[in-house]
Amino acid sequence: MLEFRQVAKAYATPQGPLEVLAGVDLDLAAGESVALMGESGSGKSTLLHLAAGLDLPDRGEVRLAGQALSSLAEPARARLRRETLGLVFQQFHLVASLTVRDNLRLQARLADRERPDWTAELIARLGLGGLERRYPEQLSGGQQQRLAIGRALAPRPALLLADEPTGNLDEASAGEVLELLMALVREAGCSLLMVTHSPRVAAPLDRCLHLTHGRLTTPASGRDACA
Ligand code: ADP
Ligand code: MG
Repeated sequence: MLEFRQVAKAYATPQGPLEVLAGVDLDLAAGESVALMGESGSGKSTLLHLAAGLDLPDRGEVRLAGQALSSLAEPARARLRRETLGLVFQQFHLVASLTVRDNLRLQARLADRERPDWTAELIARLGLGGLERRYPEQLSGGQQQRLAIGRALAPRPALLLADEPTGNLDEASAGEVLELLMALVREAGCSLLMVTHSPRVAAPLDRCLHLTHGRLTTPASGRDACA
C-alpha cells in the first residue's frame, strides 16, 4: 500500500541544511495499522507529508498504491491522493463556509466516491446526527475532530494518514474519538499510519515504529516496547 525506500529529506535553514529523514524504509501492507512514534521534531509530520505526496524526498522513493510519487506530476499526485488517501491532521482544516454535512461529503464528492449509505452511517456513528446543518465554528473541539475523521473516511480511502489526530483534545474525548477511529478504520478495511505520542493509543495497532535520528526502528519486542 505504502513503501518508502531509502527516503531522505532535508530542510534549508539559515544555519544550513537540516537533515530530517536519513534513509527511511517502510512497508505498510493493505489493511495494516501502524503507529509512528518519536520525539517532537524527529520528522514524523515530514514522513506523513512525503507519504501523501504533499512534498517530495531529496533521495529515495515513495510508492503509494504501487505508484512512484516522484514520477507523477502534481495534478496526477493530487488525483492519486484524492482517490487513495484520507488525511487527518491535528489542526482540523475544516471548511468554515460549509455545513457539517457538506464538509463530510466534500472529499468523497471530489473523488467521485460518494456513498450515501456510508455517509449516513458515518454521521450517526460519529455522533453528528442532528448537527448536519451547523457550521464548524458551532461545534465543540471533539465534534470538529470527529467531523475531520468522517471527512477523511467518507471516500473509503485505502489508506488513512493521521497526524496526532487527538492531540488537541482532552484525555476523555481523545480516548472516545480514537476508539471510534479504530472501529471505522476496521470497518472500512483501510490501512492506517498514525502519529501518536501515547503508548496506550499505539497498543491496539498492528505494529509500532520509532523515528529516531532520521531512521525508522522497530522496538525490540512486544507492545510494551512502544512506550
Ligand atoms: P515532528 O512531526 O516529529 O514533530 P516535523 O516533521 O514537523 O517533526 O519536523 C522535523 C524537523 O524539521 C523539526 O526540527 C522542524 O523544525 C523542521 N522543519 C519542519 N518543516 C520545516 C520547514 N518547512 N522548513 C524548515 N524546517 C522544517
Ligand atoms: Mg508533527
